[in-house]
Amino acid sequence: MRRTKRRRLDPARLDGAAFAPPGPRQSVAQQARFETVPFHTTEEEPRELNLKHLLPGSTTPGEGPVLLIGGTSVRADIFSPPTEDTLPEFLARAGYDVWILNWRASIDFAPSEYHLDDAAVYDHPAAVRTVLERTGAETLKAVVHCQGSTSFMMSIVSGLLPEVTTVVSNSVALHPQLTSLSFLKLPLAVATFGKVMPYFNPQWGLHAPGFWPKVFDWAVRATHHECNNAVCKHSSFTYGSSFPTLWSHENLDEATHEWIKGEFGFVPVTFFAQMAECAAAGHLVTMGNYPDVLPSDLFAQAPQTDARFAFMTGDQNNTFLPSGMAKTFDYFERIAPGRHVFQQMHGYGHLDVFLGRHAARDVFPFILDELNRG
Ligand SMILES: [Zn+2]
Repeated sequence: MRRTKRRRLDPARLDGAAFAPPGPRQSVAQQARFETVPFHTTEEEPRELNLKHLLPGSTTPGEGPVLLIGGTSVRADIFSPPTEDTLPEFLARAGYDVWILNWRASIDFAPSEYHLDDAAVYDHPAAVRTVLERTGAETLKAVVHCQGSTSFMMSIVSGLLPEVTTVVSNSVALHPQLTSLSFLKLPLAVATFGKVMPYFNPQWGLHAPGFWPKVFDWAVRATHHECNNAVCKHSSFTYGSSFPTLWSHENLDEATHEWIKGEFGFVPVTFFAQMAECAAAGHLVTMGNYPDVLPSDLFAQAPQTDARFAFMTGDQNNTFLPSGMAKTFDYFERIAPGRHVFQQMHGYGHLDVFLGRHAARDVFPFILDELNRG
């Protein structure tokens, strides 16, 4: 069993690299719609994480709880851009009790080095348990995105989330496939820059503390000319090789493009190192730190879950290729033909399926339908 030595964080190494982003946040009115529900993980040194719970409005949440989980380098607020309508509000109006997880990758917390395995073993099971305790429900449904999705998939196929009945997974699930340029760039970045800095941080576009962040910022400025938003461009550079990588500018309104500046922050090299291994293998690879609960080979046994899956992705996704999502769907389809769904969103990319100006028209109804199908 391969074991990864866990590095202890030396604050001196951070050199400000992991500072939390300033910039625009949710409006006061939006913030007032959510209560924060803290909970602890069960690891040896328990972590305090939290859930943002959308307070019920005029609609009674008769459809039960739904748990939303975003990616790395962001926070729960990523589902609440300043668009006319957001997914949490959309689902709440349809009768769902909406909970959004700040897992250990959230930039609302102090920076830490982690692997997807940590979230799979500790964060997601504890979050599900907390929602069920608070609501009195016996099961819940989930909408998971990007690395919130990969880590959730690790957890659910390993049998750690038996209470989850329906999962809508966006962009990437069990088979991360990168564009050929990103495929080359990712291990190179880990082997070079990753040796001198423990984090990448799109906030370096606004403030680059120290020599290496300045070098990184120089590289972004030299290669990215697609817009005037430094955090947008750094996010594109950090997460791929497109212009931009995570969305198409046509799909974002001006306010959301500006809002992004405050919503992307530190992400540890430990995560990128694992993702490079996954991309090379063509499927998720665990780090082998939890052999009793997380199998080193996630595909050695059938998925340990009765959940139904709806896999979705933008057909213009430059972060993770739609062919990877198709592969995960095929895997589940072979096990239970006709039970699961795969949908590509025409004209959308990685994250604009949630942030896009027309996402409420083009994407949210699909998510709602799939949740309602059970
Ligand atoms: Zn931009």
